[in-house]
Amino acid sequence: MTTFDIVVLGGGSGGYACSLRAAELGKSVALIERDRLGGTCLNYGCIPTKALLHAAEVADNAREGSEFGVQSTFSGMDMERVNKYKDAVVTKHFKGLTGLVKGRGITFVQGNGRLVAPNAVEVDGTRYEGAAVVLATGSYSRTLPGLEIDGQRVITSYEAINLDYVPSRVIVLGGGVIGCEFASVWRSFGSDVTILEALPHLIPAEDEDSSKGLERAFRRRGITFKTGARFAGVTRTETGVTVSLENGESVDADLLLVAVGRGPNTTNVGYEDVGVAMDRGFVLTDERLRTNVPGVYAVGDIVPGLQLAHRGFQQGIFLAEELAGLDPLPIDETAVPRVTYSEPEVASVGLTEAEAVERLGKDKVETFRFDLAGNGKSQILRTAGFIKLVREKDGPVIGIHMVGSRVGELVGEAQLIYSWEALPSEVAQLVHAHPTQNEALGEAHMALAGKPLHIHG
Ligand code: NAD
Repeated sequence: MTTFDIVVLGGGSGGYACSLRAAELGKSVALIERDRLGGTCLNYGCIPTKALLHAAEVADNAREGSEFGVQSTFSGMDMERVNKYKDAVVTKHFKGLTGLVKGRGITFVQGNGRLVAPNAVEVDGTRYEGAAVVLATGSYSRTLPGLEIDGQRVITSYEAINLDYVPSRVIVLGGGVIGCEFASVWRSFGSDVTILEALPHLIPAEDEDSSKGLERAFRRRGITFKTGARFAGVTRTETGVTVSLENGESVDADLLLVAVGRGPNTTNVGYEDVGVAMDRGFVLTDERLRTNVPGVYAVGDIVPGLQLAHRGFQQGIFLAEELAGLDPLPIDETAVPRVTYSEPEVASVGLTEAEAVERLGKDKVETFRFDLAGNGKSQILRTAGFIKLVREKDGPVIGIHMVGSRVGELVGEAQLIYSWEALPSEVAQLVHAHPTQNEALGEAHMALAGKPLHIHG
């Protein structure tokens, strides 16, 4: 059968979530994937990098054991074992997902798909027709003009996840999420790391206090970074690379990681030929994820906005429910939680202070910062950082920003607070388990509600 209710092009987070939910709702689904089911997130992105970050944490624990009275030493990384561990995690999930797709009766098509009509995708000469077509082709690592990725000395995250050695000196071009996560991994593995970021701060999309908090921690960890550093060129030497900057400085290393953003995978897939409206390669949709072509929808990294796996998942689920006539609520992009999984972690939801001031005016915005020094569990972990709340004066909390080891795990409560438009006084009433880092969230809200507990003068 080549006629379906829904044809999904792309088996990453957005595409497979849409397929699974649609099948659950009784729809017939064809899911087309040219590479590996699970897409970037499972195979080349979120999952493998978080495994590397966990290995990095174990390395730090070994190195710092004596601080806690544990006799341990760090004698180096065995990258073969690290990659084996990481690949085992990926493989297990890949098999699980493959089983799920099969189990739900989804027709999985392995091959390169091309949109050939508003209701059809062609794969190797076979036409798959759907009452609805969902574009979910994801993104790729961008580079800069004249900066060629050779996969050896100049690499992207695609190669970085499989490196079989620890570079002694590495340059990370771009101090965004990918740049900071890899800088963190390599520093823990023992590399000398230099991050070059064009804007004034690392993770520049985050609240400025979070950027500064991460910069402070990275400085303490011995991670070098240059901000306001604009890339001018790279030369390959016998032993590595030399990167020159527009200000005339240059930096040498064994390896250059290019992490300057991800571009949409929308070339040579037929979108423009069918008349899908695009902007700089991104597919334009309305809040119900409809493109301008009736029957054609889009989800994930090809849709302008946050390029995050969990946003793609949610868009996929939304679309499946929409197509099944369940009339789901559109996704609030500001409520999408954001986590950088470096050491320390940075997590946020809602508006930054600057965005809140821009939207409401300075007089209408109140902020509070709770220092993790006042949180027992954070002291046990020996982590520094803070939780910063942004609220509308006399109104709800509209932004939560956190820096510290493991704070990514706190973003769930933060997101409920934001999405439920909770007042600080309402959160202050909730009992937070002691001793957890979660308590710090409670304490921050208590302080903002006018009843600070563990806060000095
Ligand atoms: P990014 O947009 O987060 O960061 C790219 C950085 O490169 C920016 O800070 C930018 O200012 C800088 N840059 C651009 N041109 C430059 C130049 N010429 N010289 C120096 N610096 C330059 O992109 P990314 O880190 O590559 O990540 C890509 C996408 O994947 C992002 O949307 C990111 O959110 C997502 N991602 C998310 C996670 C996570 O949620 N933990 C992890 C990895 C990737």
